[in-house]
Amino acid sequence: MAQDLAETGRLRALLSRIGAGLDEFQRFEHRDAQHPSQRWRERLDQPLPQRGVGIDAIAADLLEHVIPNGSATARPGFSGFITTGGTTAAALAATAANIAAPQRYGLTAFNFLEEFSLQWLAQMCGLRAMQGVYSSGGSVANLLALGAARQSAFEQIGRDPAKQGMDRPVAIYATAEAHHTIQRSAGVLGVGRQSVRAIACDNRGRMDVSALSRAIEEDTRADVLPMAIVANAGTTNTGAIDPLHAIGELANERGVWFHVDGAYGLPGILDQRVAPLYRGLELADSVIVDPHKWLGASVGVAATFVRDRGFLQRAFTQEPADYLEGSVDTADAIAAGVEHSMDDFGVPYYDFGVELSAPCRGVVVWALIREIGVDGMTERIRRHNDMAAHVADAARTHPHLELLQEPTLSICCFRYVAPGVADLDFLNRQLHRRLMHENTNMPSTTQVNGKLALRPCFVGARCDMKHAQALIDDVLRLGDALVHEASQPKPHA
Ligand SMILES: *Cc1c(COP(=O)(O)O)cnc(C)c1O
Repeated sequence: MAQDLAETGRLRALLSRIGAGLDEFQRFEHRDAQHPSQRWRERLDQPLPQRGVGIDAIAADLLEHVIPNGSATARPGFSGFITTGGTTAAALAATAANIAAPQRYGLTAFNFLEEFSLQWLAQMCGLRAMQGVYSSGGSVANLLALGAARQSAFEQIGRDPAKQGMDRPVAIYATAEAHHTIQRSAGVLGVGRQSVRAIACDNRGRMDVSALSRAIEEDTRADVLPMAIVANAGTTNTGAIDPLHAIGELANERGVWFHVDGAYGLPGILDQRVAPLYRGLELADSVIVDPHKWLGASVGVAATFVRDRGFLQRAFTQEPADYLEGSVDTADAIAAGVEHSMDDFGVPYYDFGVELSAPCRGVVVWALIREIGVDGMTERIRRHNDMAAHVADAARTHPHLELLQEPTLSICCFRYVAPGVADLDFLNRQLHRRLMHENTNMPSTTQVNGKLALRPCFVGARCDMKHAQALIDDVLRLGDALVHEASQPKPHA
């Protein structure tokens, strides 16, 4: 009998061992990996092993040296970028898929949940009559949507760009606040990063629709093909929402593909107080959302929605492959009256994107929504929006704080100020480094209208109002200390 050296059973015992270490991690009492203890580096930095050490030694290393030196991004007080740790449901569902359905194709319960969860997600986020596909993140999700846009634009002039390539320049319209993966997508799709036009914004980071209209006219006159308009439902910098309705109407009028990047902000529609800002979403040809941001999936899950997956299929098909299609026969199975999970590949997601082998991500989204329901998600979104509003209130009223942008969703851009400080950007950068080193309340920074801003973005399931207040307290304490230090006479050399 073949004896492979890799362990393939004993999951119960090993997972429960690791589970204990992960629960310990989630108390967030460990030292931070930012301060590298030489111990873990030395322990892990070993030569390529000729002989394996076996699974128990791996479990021990994970517990002792790897897990405790993991990432700070899951900490309740971490509010940098737009990222957070996954919830328990996400970890359970992903582990289940890892073992029980290593591929998303085949007629499995997991494949069923792939489609089913996309429909739940669409319904929850106010998308009607749209079809979806999962991918690894907002970057790829934007690429797929723009691939569909390219397909649509060229098919209108009688060309298949995926098959024949492009025969003329195109333009993509987005603001400077749009995510840079839009430019990268243009590069990958072969239309060039230079084809992305920077449409002006108002002082709150929202697209100027008359500037958009002028840019489309100019390009059309110059025989450049308008390929897509990219609007943001929640910019990465400040959470601003573009005027979706006006943009959508213009797009429909000009026959240009209307893409909405809601990687972060789409679930914001659940908060009734901001829901009216999403009017116009129904005009979109494509929309993306990242369940690994606000919904609490572990990193690696985004969804692209389009009206008709045919555009995705024509843009990304691999063409029939003997080793794939040749190996299933649905008619045979129906004739035999039995069905096996390998009789059919189910929905051909591998033809709607750039991945063939891919994990089942739908089961994760299904678990997240089913666990706490739309009510639970709504409560989370409102709680986080309230936290940003609370920071904004403090920044507006406290003499040592300044609000740099009125929040729309759960991002608040503000800074510490004090009379007599010449370089507030420098002061706030120093303050930010101290916040990071304290390892408790950790926003990131950005630029708002030329000023350095502290930028908390609250998306984590583990954070609540007390973390927003703690961040304000920390900023005031550290800002006061920095100003005090700067006012002390320098010791003589
Ligand atoms: C985060 C983000 C992206 C990129 O998503 P990833 O999942 O990090 O690849 C794209 N667009 C917007 C608006 C985002 O906030």
